[in-house]
Amino acid sequence: MRSRLVAGNWKMHGSLTENEALLGALTRGLAQGFSGQCAVCVPYPFLGQVQKLLQDSAVAWGAQDVSEHAKGAYTGEVSAAMLREFGCRFVIVGHSERRAMHAEDSRLVARKMRAAQDGGLTPIVCVGETLAERERGVTDAVVSEQLGAVIEELGVAAFGGAVIAYEPVWAIGTGKTASPEQAQAVHAAIRGLLAKHDAQFAAEVRVLYGGSVKAGNAGELFAMPDIDGGLVGGASLDAAEFTAICRAAGDAKR
Ligand code: PEP
Repeated sequence: MRSRLVAGNWKMHGSLTENEALLGALTRGLAQGFSGQCAVCVPYPFLGQVQKLLQDSAVAWGAQDVSEHAKGAYTGEVSAAMLREFGCRFVIVGHSERRAMHAEDSRLVARKMRAAQDGGLTPIVCVGETLAERERGVTDAVVSEQLGAVIEELGVAAFGGAVIAYEPVWAIGTGKTASPEQAQAVHAAIRGLLAKHDAQFAAEVRVLYGGSVKAGNAGELFAMPDIDGGLVGGASLDAAEFTAICRAAGDAKR
């Protein structure tokens, strides 16, 4: 049975003072009972602080992007090995904000996924359609192209141990959540796509939902059979909300 995961994406938020308060409240809240897996993906400069604050806790941590390269003259880039040195377990790759604002295409996302795995990190590979694509009825085709590039570049075995996050772009930071049924339909399609290549990887890969997940809607989303937790942006900056979402993942019955 797939274990549930809730990963917070802090995006470009936080400060040394705010992080200490947020993670203190989160770890105290989760210490009162929690059965899933929880992680925070933070801006690079905070990794040392987060490592110190979380190393004896049940909360894992990670980054929001990684270089496709292992080392070299790549000004501004950060390698997977560097992230491992700071104890990162996870890294987000292919977030829609990076695809849209940094022109990352699915092939580059696949190479970043490979770099993450070669460096001992678990990639959280983001896929999802824009509102215009949903309205044109091409959601499954978009997600299929995004995952297909990974399969072509790396083979379906790359999904062994990886995490996929289905994040409809129209639901990110907008307050509009996909309904549990809408999300479940895409999650099932993702598993169906992988199953054409390998039934076991398809059954075992964790597929998170992301897009305006909050304490109030997490339970119904996580109860869907193919939703294995969440990738949470805005609500991960609020300790009480994020604790409740992590708890919902632990408590949800399939
Ligand atoms: C995200 O940034 O990955 C995300 C899902 O954001 P939000 O929860 O704020 O919609």
